[in-house]
Amino acid sequence: MTRANLDAAADAATRAGLRAALDAGAAVLAGSGSALDAVAAAVATLEDAPSFNAGRGAVFTADGTVELDAAIMDGASSRAGAVARVTRTRHPVALARAVMERTPHVMLAGVGADAFALTTGLEQVANDWFMTDERRRQWHEAGATFDRAMKYGTVGAVARDREGRLAAATSTGGVTGKKWGRIGDSPVIGAGTFADDHVAVSATGSGEDFLRAVAGHEIGARVRLGGEPLGAAARTVLTAIRAAGGAGGVIAIGRDGLPVLTFTTSGMYRGLVGDGVPADVAIFADEGRAWSTTF
Ligand code: ASP
Repeated sequence: MTRANLDAAADAATRAGLRAALDAGAAVLAGSGSALDAVAAAVATLEDAPSFNAGRGAVFTADGTVELDAAIMDGASSRAGAVARVTRTRHPVALARAVMERTPHVMLAGVGADAFALTTGLEQVANDWFMTDERRRQWHEAGATFDRAMKYGTVGAVARDREGRLAAATSTGGVTGKKWGRIGDSPVIGAGTFADDHVAVSATGSGEDFLRAVAGHEIGARVRLGGEPLGAAARTVLTAIRAAGGAGGVIAIGRDGLPVLTFTTSGMYRGLVGDGVPADVAIFADEGRAWSTTF
């Protein structure tokens, strides 16, 4: 995104949303909660914030509906859950977790996922509850076409807890004007969301490119098998995605607790908090932060 398409009020709301998510995740970890609980809490907070392309405020499909994708992965146990094209669950990340914890499956999609949601007790809402005037305006502006270079806004969180367990979660409305049935990288384990005992990764960007690059798993494999530093692995994968015409970024954390927030776009909504590290947030590439890089 550029400063031109984020006015002062939207800028402030976005930063406040990021801070609220950091607070939610940090509160879980401060109470000795797990990394899994922390990323679930942070992403659920972002799903409720209309500034972001997930839950309320998600982008519109070509048909003017909202179809949501989400995933969560627990690195310590390698368990994962995901949902795609869900239309009624207020917190898709919680539904992804329910798939992980209450079914023998990893991913449920479409009507089956919506039907499963009814059995979970998770809050259900009408599809238009997710819609905001701003997203409707963007949809009209896009002429209901799919543009790989659209602004993103997918939300994600990665965390490491006191026991060293890693987790990642991602939630999104996808890309404005996506065709009916389209599923991006976010809910695909190993592409937009991945965690093992070495890394936790959540991606945002042109989903088709992240799918083809199997981005999250590729970053993890470079670290686990190749011994690459996490930051170098992430930049290698993003460089390959850029060479293929894609763009985006990742947030990641390694088993050593070192965070990596890196992106090839003009900005990425991002924030960081840790033991003894006060919460900080940033949006644009030129907001110099020691904890994030752009290239
Ligand atoms: N990667 C997401 C998708 O393609 C979009 C985003 O990051 O905003 O569905």
